[in-house]
Order: sequence, then structure tokens, then C-alpha cells
Amino acid sequence: MNRLWAAGTLAVLLIALAVVALLVIPWHRPPAPRPDQLDALRQLPADKVARAREFRSELRPGSYASMILGLVIALVIGLTPIGAWLVTQAGRPFGGHWLAQAVLGGFLVVLVSEVVTLPLAAWRHTIVVRYGISTQSWGAWSVDLLKSFAVGAVIGGLALAGFYTVTHFAPRWWWAFGAAGAAGLVVLLSFVLPVLVEPVFNKFTPMPDGPLRTELIQLAARDGVPVKDVLVADASRRTKAVNAYVSGLGPTRRIVVYDTMLTEAEPAEVVSVAAHELGHAKDGDVLTGTLLGALGTAAAVIALFLLGSWGWLLNRAGADTIGEPKAIGLLLAVVALAGLVAGPAQAFVSRRIEARADQHALVLTGDPATFEAMQRRLGTVNLSDPDPPAWEHVLFASHPSTVERMAAARAFARGDR
Ligand SMILES: [Zn+2]
Repeated sequence: MNRLWAAGTLAVLLIALAVVALLVIPWHRPPAPRPDQLDALRQLPADKVARAREFRSELRPGSYASMILGLVIALVIGLTPIGAWLVTQAGRPFGGHWLAQAVLGGFLVVLVSEVVTLPLAAWRHTIVVRYGISTQSWGAWSVDLLKSFAVGAVIGGLALAGFYTVTHFAPRWWWAFGAAGAAGLVVLLSFVLPVLVEPVFNKFTPMPDGPLRTELIQLAARDGVPVKDVLVADASRRTKAVNAYVSGLGPTRRIVVYDTMLTEAEPAEVVSVAAHELGHAKDGDVLTGTLLGALGTAAAVIALFLLGSWGWLLNRAGADTIGEPKAIGLLLAVVALAGLVAGPAQAFVSRRIEARADQHALVLTGDPATFEAMQRRLGTVNLSDPDPPAWEHVLFASHPSTVERMAAARAFARGDR
């Protein structure tokens, strides 16, 4: 009965996910014509393109090795009794209490994977510094690393404590409470990330009064998106890269521009970037991501519950049920695998949403030339490959490539869309 309910709820959630995805994701937004892209590529300075490609190919081995190693460790810990052993050891000082096993065991399992992949992260840092993108010393880099461990520990600790409290007190129906709780956590995180987590890493100050600020506020008003303020992040403390983003929901929604953007780019280009971010705000893209994330996470919890009846898996992990802390390793291995599989789908959706925000910027500013100049600047300063290998783009890219975005501006200028 219980399993039937779970399967039924999972089906409903998956249908809801499909319906929301069909309705809110701009599927019909294929990249601009390839000849325009190749034209754009030919007009970029050849030495800059070569340097960006050299940079990216130096980063590749470390990035992929880290990804593969992380997955292998997750599978080894999850599909052997090592995970159960780690969790038991972590709970031992507390008499093997289930809550201690859940939180400390979870930390220990994650820590093993972090420590093993740390040298690869350090290797990537040396490359990013050598190419002049990162401005961070080893000290500052380590502080960032410790901060992200701490943030992960707080959020992960709360999630683990919540999850295993539910499995402990509702051993048969935890899937229902767990799914609701996980969805709630995703929504809560969207609200609090900009006010609780982002300030851990950066200082945010309102953009100083001046012609640019006035123009941005007027642009937002013209767009019908109420923006109280544009915030500037002190990104220059760690990078030379330029960027902007929108985060938060409702009262915590904000548009953030890197301070590097203000020193590197022309004011008109900053306006173009802000117009792209206003597109995200106007189309409710943060809300879309939150909704899809909440439905997907709830579905994942129920799928995990159903997977828990697979005796072979539990035997491998040395656990009796999937709802006990001893199965944390198995749980994290499943999450790692699912993340790997879902990654390309998420990237595809993200590229379509980003292309829509680009289109919004073009319509709002009516200035494709500046938009194109801004894309060229973003690509050049951030050393991104303007036209990356197709497989890498399809698997991992969250944004259209530089040449795709430049080509979109050209198509717009011609009046194609
Ligand atoms: Zn965007």
C-alpha cells in the first residue's frame, strides 16, 4: 500500500515537472545561424582566441579528473561497506546515536571526497592565477575554501538532520514528509541565499549615485520591473573576470554587478548586461528554477525510497534500509550519479533561458552593436572559448557560447527575430 502511494505520488510529481517544464521553458529558441557564428568568430582577435583556448585546455585535465575521481569515490564509498563503516565511526563518540551518525557521518563521507580531490582544485587554482584571471593568494583561496565548507556543513547538516529525523520517526512514510521537506528547503534556500550566503563571500554595496545608476533604474522602470537598487559586489578581491547576475525571490530579489564590470566595461555595456538580468527578473527565471528544483528534489526523495527495496544495493552498502544513517554513502552515491545524468538536461534548459534573457536585452536596449561588444568583452576578459567543442558545450555549458550570442545580436540587427 505504502509503496503504491509512493509510486503514485512520484508519477504525479513527474507529470507536474513535465507540465511546468513544457509551459515555462522557452524550448523554441534555437541558436542563431551557424554562418553568423563563424563570421563572428573570424572577427575576434586570433591571438585572444588562441590564448582562451590554451587556458581552457590547460584547465580541462584537472576539471575532468576531479569530476571522475569524485564519482569513483562516491561509488566506492556507497557500494561497499566502507560508507557504513565511516558512519559508524563518526557516531561512536556519541554512543552510536542515530542523529550523530546522520550529521557527523554525512560530514565524514563528504570530507573524504573533498580531501582526495583537493590537490586537483589546487592545481586548477595555479592555472587560473597563471593566466591572470584569479587575483587570490593561497591564503585567500584557502579562506574561501573553508568558508564554502562551513556553508555546506550548515546547509548539509540541517538537511541530513531533517531527513534522518523523518526516517527515524516515520520509518514507513518518510518518503512523504521527506519529499515535502526537501521541496520546502529548496524554496527557502532561494529566498535566503542572497541575504545569508552570498555576503559570506562578497561585500555588496549599492551602486553609487551617478548617470549610470540613474540610467539602470530608468531602464528597469521602462521594463516594468521594480528594482530598488543595483548592487555592486567586490568581486575584484578574487578575480579579474566580469559578470552580473540576478538572485533571490520577492523581497530578496536583487541585481548584482561585479565591480570588475564597472572598471573593465563601457557604461553602455553595463546597461546591456543589466538589461539581460532584467530579462531574468521579468520572466521569473529564479522562480522557474526554484519550482523545477523543488519538484525535482521531491521526486528524487521518493525515487530514493523506492530504490530502497532493491536488496542487492543495500547488501553492497552493508545497510538494512535506505532510511538509516548507515546508508548515507549509498544515498550520496545515488545523488552523485543522478547529478551527472541530470547535468546536461539542466545545462540545456539553462542555455535556452539565457538565450531568452539575451533577446530581452536586445529588445529593451534596441542596441545590438553594444550587446555584441559586451559579449566580446565578457568572452575576452573571462578567457572563455568563444566557440567551444560541441560535446563540451552540449554537456556542460550553462550559457550560449560567445559566438552564438554575437550571432543572435546580428540576427536581431537584421530584423530576423
Ligand atoms: Zn543570464
